[in-house]
Amino acid sequence: MDTKQLLQYDREHIWHPYTSTVNPLPVFPVKRAEGVYLELEDGRRLIDGMSSWWCEVHGYNHPVLNAAVEKQLKEMSHVMFGGLTHRPAVELAEKILSRTPAGIDKIFFCDSGSVAVEVAMKMAIQYWYAAGCEEKKHFLTITKGYHGDTWNAMSVCDPVTGMHGIFHGCLPIQYFIHRPECRFGQACRDEDIRELREFLEQHHADIAAVILEPIVQGAGGMWFYSADYLRQVRELCTRYQLLLICDEIATGFGRTGKWWAVEHAGISPDIMCIGKAITGGYMSFAATLATDEVARQICSRDPFVFMHGPTFMGNPLACAVAHASIGLLESYDLEQKIGAIERQLEAELRPAAGLPQVEDVRVLGAIGVVEMKEPVDMAVFQSRFVEEGIWVRPFGKLVYIMPPFVIQPDELSCLTQGLLKVIAHE
Ligand SMILES: *Cc1c(COP(=O)(O)O)cnc(C)c1O
Repeated sequence: MDTKQLLQYDREHIWHPYTSTVNPLPVFPVKRAEGVYLELEDGRRLIDGMSSWWCEVHGYNHPVLNAAVEKQLKEMSHVMFGGLTHRPAVELAEKILSRTPAGIDKIFFCDSGSVAVEVAMKMAIQYWYAAGCEEKKHFLTITKGYHGDTWNAMSVCDPVTGMHGIFHGCLPIQYFIHRPECRFGQACRDEDIRELREFLEQHHADIAAVILEPIVQGAGGMWFYSADYLRQVRELCTRYQLLLICDEIATGFGRTGKWWAVEHAGISPDIMCIGKAITGGYMSFAATLATDEVARQICSRDPFVFMHGPTFMGNPLACAVAHASIGLLESYDLEQKIGAIERQLEAELRPAAGLPQVEDVRVLGAIGVVEMKEPVDMAVFQSRFVEEGIWVRPFGKLVYIMPPFVIQPDELSCLTQGLLKVIAHE
């Protein structure tokens, strides 16, 4: 197939994320990728501003990660996890658990972020079942969240921008309160936490857990909220005996400047989900982690086991590359590296706040967001970004970047300057 045929076939047969098969938007064919660059079939090179949706933190085609995959490939690429275990899984578990927030010491490997969220929600339900509190079967979350596309994950995504309209009547009913308006770096005032407090006073008896993205709400709105709010959520969960599930799938592994976003608040969840950057973007993989107390309780009542076990659980290739990826993160001075990206993003994106079409500019860690006043035309913006030699995929009013951690200052400047140029002329 030449490139034209390839695109033609793609257009006629292949579904892309959130796209029409009748009237698909153009897609760009990538031939290979290296470092922070995507190389298109026609030879054009684009600086990747998305890290392939938060994943590719070390850049593409990394020699250390390639070597880890190749080495493991020669041992075994897969083996079932029921009744068997292996060194890659155990070594990865040890590496992750040595860095998790206090109290978290059990890990369940799974296939993708959405599944990690499903698993977390099942854990919470099974926890209360085992405790004899079967009425605790609802989840409480904040608006503008995103937790994935599978059934229960969908039920805790934002009720307006999520898929509740289409799937109304099919999704489990969950409780929503407004996302906090207090920004990251600000204190949480009484009016910011009151809605949650009053809601829990009334409804805690039938709630299994509060689930949210700590500090950074990703795909549901790219909003950074007060660490003080998260601390108060933790306190309220403890006071009303609810589990707290923190979805660190986007925020984990350093993206916000800390290893985990919960560290900004100095709290520990009861259950946490990790994914996305876990394998440095090499393959689909995720995990759900829990405290010993949660695990113990789940296993204390018939059927005495946690009822989940995906086919590809603990895939050795994924474990090996995740182990190597975390090793690379440990070799960086992460806070320093992310701090430098943060300062540069702040300096270079802040001027956009002065443009009439821009509503807000916000930066945290290696995440930069320009919120427009009106939704942008994604197809137009996307091709304009490609013309500027950068890869940025906006949605709605949000134009945002979360580059690979290995991006060099001059590359980051190309990215921010290209982005500003496109925004300014639209
Ligand atoms: C991406 C994401 C998910 C879903 O992960 P998938 O791997 O796409 O299933 C869940 N929660 C958060 C916070 C995410 O950013």
